[in-house]
Amino acid sequence: MIREVAERIDFSFVREEVADKYGARGNVGIDPEVILKLMFLLFWDDVRSERELMRILAERLDYLWFIGYGLDDGIPDHSVLSKARARWGAEVFESMFLRSVGQCVEAGLVSSELLHMDGSLIEANASKDSVLKSDPEMIERLRGVYGSQEAKLEGCKSDSGKRKLVNSTLISPTDPDAPCVRKKTGGESKPRYKAHRAVDDAHGVVTATMTSPGDGEENAKMLGLVHEHAANVGTLPESAVADSQYGTAENYRDLTALGVETHMSPHAGRKRHRKVFGAERFEYDAAGDSYICPQGERLYPRSPDKIRMSIEYAVRKGTCQECPLRPECTNAKTGRTVQRRWGQDLIDEGIKESSTKNAKRSRDRRKWRMEGSFAQSANLHGFKRSRWRRLWRQRIQDHIICAIENIKILISKSGKRSNEGLGASFGRFSRTLPRNTPVERAYRLRGFIWALSCGY
Ligand code: SF4
Repeated sequence: MIREVAERIDFSFVREEVADKYGARGNVGIDPEVILKLMFLLFWDDVRSERELMRILAERLDYLWFIGYGLDDGIPDHSVLSKARARWGAEVFESMFLRSVGQCVEAGLVSSELLHMDGSLIEANASKDSVLKSDPEMIERLRGVYGSQEAKLEGCKSDSGKRKLVNSTLISPTDPDAPCVRKKTGGESKPRYKAHRAVDDAHGVVTATMTSPGDGEENAKMLGLVHEHAANVGTLPESAVADSQYGTAENYRDLTALGVETHMSPHAGRKRHRKVFGAERFEYDAAGDSYICPQGERLYPRSPDKIRMSIEYAVRKGTCQECPLRPECTNAKTGRTVQRRWGQDLIDEGIKESSTKNAKRSRDRRKWRMEGSFAQSANLHGFKRSRWRRLWRQRIQDHIICAIENIKILISKSGKRSNEGLGASFGRFSRTLPRNTPVERAYRLRGFIWALSCGY
């Protein structure tokens, strides 16, 4: 298959992209195209390490042919790869991923009907024995020190210290960007990252990817992934499919407002611990801005909660005292309350959509389409283990692996019809929709209007 990659994918775009990272004087370095191809091979065959790749390179005629080296050419030192990463930054690899998406779009492999989303934990390249435990202030200081040390050593910015940790008493000095988290199924708490992916249903093309520290909330990435998909593919998906973690009020509201059908399961928190009537038993009277309870009593708005972006509706004092439905309706001494979020109509519409037959069918498809994408990356390309340290390097890893997934689909599904076009266009693709898109602007404007209506 490496022959097909060489014939149909043009890696030469990288020369132009990194031209400004090299000086005009000094020794002639290794060709950036060769370096990119070597990093591609590292994940393509899940070679154990960069040293191992350089060790076997001279014996692998297919690898030599792929990178354009002859039998007598000297093998580069493994350190050229780490130096190139530090010099180029993560953008070049993101560009490689975007080009792979663009080619899949051009080849008609992306339908944008169903977009599956999920996140997966990745074990950081740091032993759990390296983890230090201390008070939050000390951990915060250590993160700052490690961040500035790295910036000095590698001449690039660190992500450390910019965000609040969920577990603020643990840190791994080996990789301070990777917080200690447990899997959902339990087990040990270890330094981990999280990869978030959006996969198009038609052929499994990865259309958007994000990488976060392991404690990053998956549901908070959903809108970002949809937006990235729209920017990379040129159109919003018709439906967004995800598990119950993504079924939050914010996601239902925002996606419905964008006109995207919400095929997520409702969040587990909505069903759990429910010992009283749900809010759906209360009818909202828009004209009177009040709720009517099953007993016909009215609940009136109190002052808004700006943090939760909601308004609490409550009955008048003493109304619930003698009500026969009280045991099923409320445990509160002061009577029943109902929360109404801003954009509640959109949230209700989104929840209604998520319980349709179509939504259930989409969730069934998600099980094999989404999980299949992660499983293939894990089994063939070393996706579940960080090869390098720090968040920005993990982003590089995820972009390379996602690009490989797309290139494989491109080769296997597009046949010979676009044989020439693919190779030729790989280097020319630019995002179909630039970042400052109408979708993005509409989304920002809508958020602004909401914020105004919330009284911010
Ligand atoms: S307990 Fe109060 S809010 Fe609930 S049904 Fe009775 S009167 Fe209505």
